[in-house]
Amino acid sequence: MYGTGLAKGLLLTMRHFVESYVDDIRYGFRKYHHSTDNFGIRQGTKTKGVITVQYPDEKVAVPERFRFVPFLIVEDEDHPTRAGKDWCTSCGICAKVCPPQCIWIVRGNDPNTGRPVPEPEAFFIDIDICMNCGYCAEYCPFDAIKMDHDYELASYDRTTHHIHDKERLSKPNSYWRSIAPTRAYEEMLARGSWEHKDAAKEARRGAASARSSAPRPAVEQPAAAVPAKSEATEPAEASATPASPAEGATPWSEDEAKREERRRKALERKARRAAQRGQ
Ligand code: SF4
Ligand code: SF4
Repeated sequence: MYGTGLAKGLLLTMRHFVESYVDDIRYGFRKYHHSTDNFGIRQGTKTKGVITVQYPDEKVAVPERFRFVPFLIVEDEDHPTRAGKDWCTSCGICAKVCPPQCIWIVRGNDPNTGRPVPEPEAFFIDIDICMNCGYCAEYCPFDAIKMDHDYELASYDRTTHHIHDKERLSKPNSYWRSIAPTRAYEEMLARGSWEHKDAAKEARRGAASARSSAPRPAVEQPAAAVPAKSEATEPAEASATPASPAEGATPWSEDEAKREERRRKALERKARRAAQRGQ
């Protein structure tokens, strides 16, 4: 019948109108009580009626995947070896993929040698131009740039305040983990460590070189080839047991240990050459 849709729409509006008051009466003054989750529940999908958010006194929590302008991750201040260090290596990929080209990066140089170092000296993002697409965060190979949840960036200055420099962009890794715990966890799994890629690599190298410089494991002197004198006096069942590495020894074959040793020596040579070049 003509006008049925109109009547249904009006009835729906009327229902929301009434439910808003019913909900208000049900919650009473608890509506403004933030110590309970009332506000979150009323903003959720289970609520009934129409609700006005009294912004800025009240704010709706944003979902984890919400993205606003990007920020740069720096190491936490309590990190044992890299406190405050940038995760960004100034590779420039984010600047290249940024569709409106609103990222500028100045690569850092070693003050003594003048050689480039993998960290940005300056990093700027014009947040008036940024369209919050998140490409920079998606493409960064070091998980060093992320999309922030802070959307309250209005200011009276439209010239310099909206060009965020490195200092303003930098936020600790713990902040990223607090606003996006699931995402941070997924990234950690993909990276294989909570650490920055380079730091994890260095740690692995250190562990490998420590292993290679440790006393040679028991497998390097196989008991089966040349039985020790004491073994001759062992009972038959004990001598039948295959030789196994000592407790805590590296369970490598001799070939692997030699390979690791060669790798360690090559790295030492490389470090010596780099030090010579730096003089
Ligand atoms: S934020 Fe990531 S992509 Fe951009 S320069 Fe730094 S390391 Fe490269
Ligand atoms: S979010 Fe998009 S527009 Fe903004 S800086 Fe990143 S790549 Fe550029």
